[in-house]
Amino acid sequence: MQNWLEYFEFLGFEYIYLKEKKEKNQFLEKLDSLEKIVKNCTLCPLHIGRKQAVFADGNPSSPLMFIGEAPGEEEDIKGLPFVGRAGQLLTKMIIKMGLKREDVYITNIVKCRPPNNRDPLPEEIVKCSPYLLEQIEIIKPKVIVTLGRHSSGYFTEMEVGISKYRGRWFYFKGIPVMPTFHPSYLLRNPKDRWLVWEDMKEVLKKLNLKILE
Ligand code: URA
Repeated sequence: MQNWLEYFEFLGFEYIYLKEKKEKNQFLEKLDSLEKIVKNCTLCPLHIGRKQAVFADGNPSSPLMFIGEAPGEEEDIKGLPFVGRAGQLLTKMIIKMGLKREDVYITNIVKCRPPNNRDPLPEEIVKCSPYLLEQIEIIKPKVIVTLGRHSSGYFTEMEVGISKYRGRWFYFKGIPVMPTFHPSYLLRNPKDRWLVWEDMKEVLKKLNLKILE
């Protein structure tokens, strides 16, 4: 690199515009400022009971984004999505896919913990989902996996139970979306884990990644 710099200096250039680096910084800056807004959000009553809003975890440059429902107790304490029992199962699934948790981007449709881990209400999803849409706009993932009926219903607009449409590709602003069961459901129904594995194999195919059986 030093030689290149000297060479350009020799040619009479005083400045070199590092476009890629600048774009990368802008992308991270946009995410950082969105995270600050989310952390201070008071748009719905969930902010009253939260310890902290949970923005995301993982690699924002990843082509693969997982979207869950809302933080639970452990997520609320740690400030990270999917770190409780359901999160451990999700992490195992990611490893089975031949990836690491740090290789993917993980977030939720609702950023604050609903009381007693109840399901997010439609009005909470309406208030909070613009943050997720902004994350998608900034990150531009190649593939989205929606975990469970709330995020899946939001992106597919399906009004029937998730078991009727999981495993099929949907498209959101041109991005392929794979709806699948939520890891909490799988903890209660381990017999259905193979179905999620089938869905994840489709995701790997879409990303042109190798399937390790
Ligand atoms: N369930 C979710 O949907 N999201 C989390 O972050 C944790 C559990």
